[in-house]
Amino acid sequence: MISLADSFAFLDNPSINWKYVTASLAVGKYLFESYVEYRQYKLYKKPFPPPSLKGKLTQETFDKSQAYSTAKSQLSFASRTLQLLQSLAYIKYDFLSVIWNQSGAILAKTTFLFPGFIRGVISQSIVFFAATQIISTVLSAPSSYYENFAVEDKYGFNKMSVATWISDILKEFTISFLLQAPFLALFLKLIDYYGDASLACGMILATFLQCLNLTLLPSVILPWFYTFTPLKDGKLKEAVETLAKKHKVPLEEIFVVDTSSRTAHSNAYLIGLPWSQKIVLYDNLIETSTIDEIVAILTHEIGHWKSNDTLKLLAASEATLFIMFSFFSAFIYNKSLYSSFGFNREHPTIIGFFLFYGIYGELQPVITFFIHSVAQNIEYRADYYAKSYGYGQVLGEALIKLEIQSLTAFHNDWLYSAYRHSHPTLVQRLASLDYVSDHKVPTDSKEIKKD
Ligand SMILES: [Zn+2]
Repeated sequence: MISLADSFAFLDNPSINWKYVTASLAVGKYLFESYVEYRQYKLYKKPFPPPSLKGKLTQETFDKSQAYSTAKSQLSFASRTLQLLQSLAYIKYDFLSVIWNQSGAILAKTTFLFPGFIRGVISQSIVFFAATQIISTVLSAPSSYYENFAVEDKYGFNKMSVATWISDILKEFTISFLLQAPFLALFLKLIDYYGDASLACGMILATFLQCLNLTLLPSVILPWFYTFTPLKDGKLKEAVETLAKKHKVPLEEIFVVDTSSRTAHSNAYLIGLPWSQKIVLYDNLIETSTIDEIVAILTHEIGHWKSNDTLKLLAASEATLFIMFSFFSAFIYNKSLYSSFGFNREHPTIIGFFLFYGIYGELQPVITFFIHSVAQNIEYRADYYAKSYGYGQVLGEALIKLEIQSLTAFHNDWLYSAYRHSHPTLVQRLASLDYVSDHKVPTDSKEIKKD
C-alpha cells in the first residue's frame, strides 16, 4: 500500500484542476452507461420473442414485457440524468464544504449527544455523514416513488401503499445509519492514531461490517420489513425436507415470507450459518409454482450452498474493497485535491474519502464487470448442479414461468447483460440446461393479472 501512495505522490499538484477531473469522469461514466443502455433499449422495439422461447409465451405477454422494459429504461435514463446534474452542481458550488460547515454548526448545538472520546472532527464527521445520507435519501425519493407507484404499479407488480413505502425508507435509513456510524467513528479514530497504516484496519472493519450484515440480515433486519412464518405441514414441506436430507443440508426451518405485501416478483433462497440453514420461500412462488418446480429451484439454491457461493462473492467483494482502500491510501493526504474543493486549511479524512470516491466511483464500471462475471459464472454452476440431479427440464420450465411473471426482458444485448446482470439471461440459461421446449403456450396471461 505504501508504494502505491508513493507512486501517486505526483498527483498532489496544485496545477491539477481536480474539479475538472471529477466532473469529466462523472460525464464519462454517464455517457458510457447511456451507450450501454441504448444498445439494450433498441431491443425493446423487436416485435417477436427469441426463437428459443417460441411457443413458451403469448404475443400479449411478450408485448407487455417489451413495454414494461421500455418504461423502466426511460425511468433509468431520467434518474441517471438527474443524478449527473446533481453531481455537477455539488462540484460547481462546493456543496461538500457547505454541508461540512453546516455540520459543524449543528454539532455546536448538539455536542452533549456525543461521548467525550469522539468529540471534535470525528463527531462532526458523523453529523456530516448523517446529513449526506439524508440528502441522498430525499433526492432519490422522487424516482423511487415514480418507479413504485407509476411503473411497477401499472404492470401489477407494486403491492405497497404509500405509507409502507415511506416507513420502509425510514427503516432502511435508520438501520444503515446505526450499523455504519459506529464503524465510521472507529475507522476515523484509527486513522487519527496510526495514520494511513490504519487503512488496513479500514479493510478489516469493512469486512467485519459485511459479515455482521450477513448474520443480522435474516434474523434481525429482514423481519423488520417482512413477516416470516414456518411452512405449514403438507406435500410441499415433505418434498423440501426430503430434498434437504438427500443433499445433506443442515435444515433448521422452512419459512414463507410475505413478499406479496410489497411486490409480485418471486424467489427462494437458503440462508444462515454453515451448520444451520433456513430455507426461505416467497409466498408468490408457492402460489404460482408446482411442487416439482419449487424443488428444482431449491436444488439450484442448494448448488450455491454446496459450493460456498456466498463466501466466493464475499471474497470477490473483499478484493474490490482492497483495491479501493489501497487507492484511497494514495489520495488521503493529497492536499491539492482538498483545496480544489474549498478545503484549504482543514483536511478531514471523511471529506478526503468523499472526494476520492468522486473519482474512484466513476471508474466503478470496471469493478462491476468483474463482480458480475464472477456472479454469472456461479449461477451457471448452480444450474449445472440442478441439472446433474435431473432437474434441467423442470428448472427450465420454472425459470420461464418466473421470467414471464416478472416480465423480464427476453432479448438481451451482451454488453448490457455483462454490465447490469448478476444472472445469465434466460436464453443463455436454457441453452446451458439443454432445455428442450415442448412448444406449449402457457396460460400466463391469466396468472399475471392477479391484482
Ligand atoms: Zn442462483
